[in-house]
Amino acid sequence: MIAYLDNSATTRQYDEVTDLMADIAKNTYGNPSSLHALGFEAEKAVKEGRTIMARAIGCSPEEVYFTSCGTESDNTVIMGCAGPSRKPRNNRKRIISTQVEHPAVLEPLNELERQGFEVIRLKVDGQCRVDLDELKRSLTEDTILISVMTVNNETGSIMPIEEIGRIKAEFNREHGTSVLLHTDAVQAFGKLPIDMNGNFRDVDMMSLSSHKFHGPKGMGVLFVRKGTRLTPFMLGGGQEKGFRSGTENVPGIAGTGLAAGLSVRNLKTRSEQIAELRDLLRTRILAEIPDVRINSPEDGVCSVLNVSFLRTRGEVILHSLEQQGVYVSTGSACSSNHSSKKGSHVLNAMGLKPAEIEGALRFSLSEFTTRDEIDHAFTALKNAVETFRKLGSFR
Ligand code: PLP
Repeated sequence: MIAYLDNSATTRQYDEVTDLMADIAKNTYGNPSSLHALGFEAEKAVKEGRTIMARAIGCSPEEVYFTSCGTESDNTVIMGCAGPSRKPRNNRKRIISTQVEHPAVLEPLNELERQGFEVIRLKVDGQCRVDLDELKRSLTEDTILISVMTVNNETGSIMPIEEIGRIKAEFNREHGTSVLLHTDAVQAFGKLPIDMNGNFRDVDMMSLSSHKFHGPKGMGVLFVRKGTRLTPFMLGGGQEKGFRSGTENVPGIAGTGLAAGLSVRNLKTRSEQIAELRDLLRTRILAEIPDVRINSPEDGVCSVLNVSFLRTRGEVILHSLEQQGVYVSTGSACSSNHSSKKGSHVLNAMGLKPAEIEGALRFSLSEFTTRDEIDHAFTALKNAVETFRKLGSFR
């Protein structure tokens, strides 16, 4: 039996999405920019995908841009915000983010720092949440951007984006500034309600990744609120209103739209069902496996459970589980395994001890996860941890 508990790394595509994409690839293969009928059909498919995507996050279709991945969306925002502020008459140059962002945000920030921007990386507490007072203290009139993720990919902690938005809006009102707020909501969409004109009304830009909500890999979404000044990342033929050039990935856009629409159906009920299975796994681990530390907060996103199994090595347990058809992750699998040699930067920032970081595993669920999978995964996990502890360290 297979238990796929690595949904924060990527999800299984909806069958409906696969069917639609195959149909479009086969029959609607025109270039949306072409002036003939086949081009028009392709353009219609793109328009439909954009409309559904916009509806799913409560914004206007004109505010939705399609990219090649969440990483591209994040890079576009970070590098693009720095663009306008480089103008000589404008010396605003501070960017505020957190220590626990995904590398898709952290790496462009490191690059901007090398170029002379000032980057403030807010600390997090033991529950992986930012300190809003530190944010308020860090906001200055030369701040150009705040970038805080909605849900942390390793722990599932939910950041107070609504409140951060209010702080930003109030600061801008009081100081006559135009600080922008970006959120990487890659791990949040399809699990938490997101309404760009409701709870996220103070968010100016938001990144999403299609393969995290049962859509195709290689497709990202970038929400940019109307009127926001951002330098384009990809220049060329002027697609996406000149903001993101390159011939549109028509099946990918259509598939992303469909997946987005399906992901927000009965959101509350689905999230509760996923949370129930996550809680079951957590309860069984706490009851039957000694010496563990739960690294995910109780009020975290429904789909993630990060646990440290003391006196083990997460990587060894992961491979042992794999033998039983149980797929999990050590920390973040969505960054290349070449870059995570030093151990999780997120668990480090939360103040975990090296032994706790070394024994950490992330279980991530989706709407496809079943009770049988959880039972199977738990049995395999208990055996793996007991065996490792009996044999002692393999080092
Ligand atoms: N941001 C977060 C929070 C993620 O978890 C990921 C995971 O992969 C990304 C960005 C990058 O998305 P993509 O794989 O589409 O580039």
